[in-house]
Amino acid sequence: MKTINKLIEKVLSYNPKADVDQIKKAYIFSREAHCSQKRVEGSPYIHHPLAVADVLADMKLDTATIAAGLLHDTVEDTGTSTDDIKEMFGSEIAFLVDALTKLSRVEFKTREEAQAENFRKMLLAMSKDVRVILIKFADRLHNMRTIKHLSEEKRRRIASETLDIYAPLANRLGIGWLRIEFEDLSFKAVMPDLFGDLQKKVAKRKEEQYKYIDEVKNIISEKLSAAGIPAKVKGRIKHYYGIYQKMVQQKIPFEQVNDVIGLRIMTDTVSHCYDILGIIHSLWPLVPGRFKDFISLPKSNMYQSLHTTVVGPGGDRVEFQIRTEDMNEIAEEGIAAHWRYKERDGIDKKNSRFIAWLRELVKEISDATEFLEAVKGEVVPETVYVFTPNGDIKELPAGSTPVDFAYSIHTQVGHKCVGAKANGRIVPLRYKLNSGDAVEIITSPSHIPSRDWLKFVVTQRAKSRIKQWIKTEERKQSIELGTKLVEEEIRRHGLSLSILKTEKVDEVLKYFSHSFLEDLYVSIGYGKISAHQVVNRLAPEKTEKTEEMELPKLTKTPKEKGGVITIKGIDNVLYHVAKCCFPVPGDQIVGFITKGKGVTIHRKECSNLERLAVDIERLIDVEWSRDTDITSPTRLYIESIDKPGMLANLSSLISSADVNISSLKANSTHDKRALFELTLEIRNRSQLINLVNKISQMDGILNVRR
Ligand code: MN
Repeated sequence: MKTINKLIEKVLSYNPKADVDQIKKAYIFSREAHCSQKRVEGSPYIHHPLAVADVLADMKLDTATIAAGLLHDTVEDTGTSTDDIKEMFGSEIAFLVDALTKLSRVEFKTREEAQAENFRKMLLAMSKDVRVILIKFADRLHNMRTIKHLSEEKRRRIASETLDIYAPLANRLGIGWLRIEFEDLSFKAVMPDLFGDLQKKVAKRKEEQYKYIDEVKNIISEKLSAAGIPAKVKGRIKHYYGIYQKMVQQKIPFEQVNDVIGLRIMTDTVSHCYDILGIIHSLWPLVPGRFKDFISLPKSNMYQSLHTTVVGPGGDRVEFQIRTEDMNEIAEEGIAAHWRYKERDGIDKKNSRFIAWLRELVKEISDATEFLEAVKGEVVPETVYVFTPNGDIKELPAGSTPVDFAYSIHTQVGHKCVGAKANGRIVPLRYKLNSGDAVEIITSPSHIPSRDWLKFVVTQRAKSRIKQWIKTEERKQSIELGTKLVEEEIRRHGLSLSILKTEKVDEVLKYFSHSFLEDLYVSIGYGKISAHQVVNRLAPEKTEKTEEMELPKLTKTPKEKGGVITIKGIDNVLYHVAKCCFPVPGDQIVGFITKGKGVTIHRKECSNLERLAVDIERLIDVEWSRDTDITSPTRLYIESIDKPGMLANLSSLISSADVNISSLKANSTHDKRALFELTLEIRNRSQLINLVNKISQMDGILNVRR
């Protein structure tokens, strides 16, 4: 069992100058505050804060963190206030306890908006002081270690949250051992049987593996000592959850998870790291493409190491990690290693680089769900390093494209980017950048971002800038559409547009809970409310019939130049032909206001319309303006007997009707039928009906439908 004396002993072992009195005082205060409480399994509550402080001492953290660990539940669970803590322990510890109290009111359920927001708050607190999250980790770790005392439902919830949020975050902070323990504990809590089974199998295999590891180790150690290079060599074996993930991802049983043998060599200096690398490569052939130098180019979570894989004795692959002791400390402890010495060194550069990343992320993304995605998504950003035309190095997550690069330079460069060159050669915008590429962005002042970019950009910055642009653009279009619809409705009521300048507008705005006319237009343009409703509020019709729920009447309006669709006399409205029913001129049609994208035109008999009509406010009356020469695409599905010449006859019939086929798909079934899907350029409904009749009369045709 943990005791305060053992805790103090541990702290003094790495920090002889620790403020022992402070820690004792925190212990006594916490014990008093929690004296009436018990843990679920029945032990005194103080065991929990003591265990949390013990984990923090394992991480070799400063006195304030240890004390805050002891006090972390006092404000949340007892009558203590943050002010009490401040008075007793000063503002540094009070800040930590306060931040933890706020976090403990947070229960995340993954992916849900509200919880995501809380998660964001957690990272905000962390970006002010990383120790908050370290204490939170220690708290969660002890809760996970004792999770067997909880109900199954609670176990499941806490474990999946640990797996979804805490483990990736620990990894992001570079605390490798913590991620592994989080993952294995969660795995065990959720699937105890599978875990037990795997544990047995791994133990069995371990014996063989260690035999092999020892063999390699001996060869290496001998060479190193002959060369006079001091080194520690350790074998590594994959953790349980890692094996399980491989089994799931590759759909293979345990026996087939071929766990690559891994060895880690730690030495004193960087130049010895490279010497060791040379020795390994001279002993065994290297596996191409597996060598990585994270010493000269560290990962953004400060990780440094050399990685290489060779074909070892007996033809097995062996993975090596080579690093200095200092680098190893950072690889294992991540951000915690930096805090360790903070007590007197101040914050070092690498630490602030991480915090800068975090602050940037917090600043960049206001949407909580998106934020959670980002943190999870950028958990281990493998990095590419590319050059700007000035020769500056840019660091981007692996998979980044020229568009990501452009947005990392400036939002406007991103928006206006039309092309890119890598090493002087033109590359597509979706090209994946490689380390060492010299990238040049080609811009055009009139260019605008494309929604398609979202499919391939990987940086959060690019994603959020593009989305922001689209949002603004959709709003502009909705204002335009909303304005047109309202103005037309006012005219239809026989009123003057000047009514929009009267005080009545304020009442209407208030009624629809908007502050500005522009927002009202947006609501109309998005189809949330109808222009009819608005104008009725503005100037109630005396003879108010049941018209409210009806579609406005068709108005025949002379058509000017422009498109082929008229919306109640409004021209130049952005519209799309629905891809579900492909209406052609002459068909009975209805318009549906699509959020931010203007109007989509459906055939009146379109089966989707029934579903859309739930939103009756968004349906508007439209008509074809007149016969035009413009053709519209429409689709025909034809079923026939599968016999030679069918397709040739079909296409010659269609072209003799003066109709273009823009695409054609043909399939045959096992029962000797042929199915054709044709996209045709049709001038109007009567042309289409004629064509369908002609096709139906063809020999061997079974069915024709749109
Ligand atoms: Mn706790």
